[in-house]
Amino acid sequence: MHNENLLLDVQNLRTCFQTDQGEVAAVDGVDFKINKGEVVAVVGESGCGKSVTAFSILKLVSRPGKVTGGKVLFEGKDLAQFSDQAMQKLRGNDISMIFQEPLTSLNPVYTVGYQISEVILLHQKLTQKEAREKAVDMLKKVNIPRADKVVDSFPHELSGGMRQRVMIAMALSCNPKLLIADEPTTALDVTIQAQILELMKGLRNDFNTAIMMITHDLGVVAEMADRVIVMYAGKVVEEGDVFTLFKDPKHPYTKGLMKSIPKIHELKVELESIRGTVPTPSNMPKGCRFHPRCPLAAEKCVEQPPKLLELKPEYFVSCWLHDGGEVNLDDELAKRAASFTGYGAEKIL
Ligand code: SF4
Repeated sequence: MHNENLLLDVQNLRTCFQTDQGEVAAVDGVDFKINKGEVVAVVGESGCGKSVTAFSILKLVSRPGKVTGGKVLFEGKDLAQFSDQAMQKLRGNDISMIFQEPLTSLNPVYTVGYQISEVILLHQKLTQKEAREKAVDMLKKVNIPRADKVVDSFPHELSGGMRQRVMIAMALSCNPKLLIADEPTTALDVTIQAQILELMKGLRNDFNTAIMMITHDLGVVAEMADRVIVMYAGKVVEEGDVFTLFKDPKHPYTKGLMKSIPKIHELKVELESIRGTVPTPSNMPKGCRFHPRCPLAAEKCVEQPPKLLELKPEYFVSCWLHDGGEVNLDDELAKRAASFTGYGAEKIL
């Protein structure tokens, strides 16, 4: 069925890097969709492929990386067919991106006003004077006090929170349809973080901008997202609406992530976290990629990778435990799950 609201449609995306051990996939068959005005959070530990996915969408993966498969459709148009020039126009006009550390994206030798005006002039037919006025307007929109003075400041003269606001002002100066925000508040303190999130929510409401929010912070996800995509080792392992996913996560990895959130009202000091680390793309385990860290792993998990299945409408999980119900579990898996007390195994059985 045709979805008029569909903005971004990522189909079976695969991005590889050339290494001494040969070609390795950092993103391996990723599918997801983002609707107009929707906030979608992409979560997972570092090294799960979240940022590479974002760079792949924007065609900004640099060598030795390369998108080797799949499709990215933006408003139904295949971005693979876009020339470099057309992509440059799209980035800034229709899709903008903000990063964790604005200092790496802002040029230290130009004032912030000059940099915002440059973006505006690149994409809109305005005079220098009009572009500068628009830059001041955008700084006001992101709640920068004394915007008419700050416009002439250099990035190093501003605090981290102010620089991130400048980045957001720059990203939104052309009213993009999609904002890709890669850990936008990670480097900021909690109060500023809350203000930036509030600001982004306001902008979504005012401009109907869709946001793809890449983060490892589940607090940010709960605050912002309509839908959540959980990535592990280059693959989507769970996807669904934020309420269901937080209330009743299905994948053992998502359960582990949830358990590692500190709860302020509990006196428990030690955080339960997921044992082990994310595998590197050159050393990917066979079968389910999470099996070396999964307390419920059984023989089948070690041998065969589970598929991403639609458990109920618009809710997807990739785990043998949910492949049509417990009837598919081998005896060993059932035994292990029954004796295991962590990760909410009682809910699974
Ligand atoms: Fe764990 Fe097996 Fe599910 Fe993978 S498929 S998450 S190893 S239970």
